[in-house]
Amino acid sequence: AGSGKFFVGGNWKCNGTTESISKLVSDLNSANLEPEVDVVVAPPFVYLSQVKNSLTDRIEISGQNSWVGKGGAFTGEISVEQLKDLGSKWVILGHSERRHIIGEDDQFIGKKAAYAVGEGLGVIACIGEKLEEREAGKTFDVCYQQLKAFADAVPSWDNIVIAYEPVWAIGTGKVATPEQAQEVHVAIRDWLKKNISAEVASKTRIIYGGSANASNSAELAKQEDIDGFLVGGASLKGPDFATIVNSVT
Ligand code: PEP
Repeated sequence: AGSGKFFVGGNWKCNGTTESISKLVSDLNSANLEPEVDVVVAPPFVYLSQVKNSLTDRIEISGQNSWVGKGGAFTGEISVEQLKDLGSKWVILGHSERRHIIGEDDQFIGKKAAYAVGEGLGVIACIGEKLEEREAGKTFDVCYQQLKAFADAVPSWDNIVIAYEPVWAIGTGKVATPEQAQEVHVAIRDWLKKNISAEVASKTRIIYGGSANASNSAELAKQEDIDGFLVGGASLKGPDFATIVNSVT
């Protein structure tokens, strides 16, 4: 892992019921988690209160998205103010499902991040290339462009974790090899060094996401620039998620 504190986030996406989430929370509450790891879970909005009220304070809560500005007449949206009101410390922004299924663009995502950071929420800023972009040799270009849109908008990097999530690895079972992930994490760190500052480059956690699970996380975590994980599918199983948290080296 890199120099920052290990960070593991669980993105529950649009999954769960009152009952299944109550089971997941109870598994997480009884899990043994390494103390030197920041652990965060992102439940669907409708279960945020349930989770906040039943989950151990050891684990922080995140939104999976937030509105781009102050709340108001925006039907179906959830504001940063509301996330904070329910005890969220974080929000996931720029997730590939929001970019490529919902159609959010770089500038919109940058504005969301700026607003959330300005209001004191931590941001898990997701970037990553699609398969055809990787095959065309454009992985770095795509990541730099998405990173630049965040960088151009945010007032500070103090409260931002970057999640490198190759789209071809998300939910597919095709995890990046440790070498593939490390190569991009180094490139991201170099970009931060060149374009922001050496301090931001060394302090910012760069986590990996894309079919990370209890069997592959330890190998990935050994890479020097992998500072943790953003986990989808495997975060729905408490014991597996705990194993990933404990893969810190
Ligand atoms: C994600 O959606 O952020 C993710 C990494 O999903 P999965 O672990 O299921 O690939």
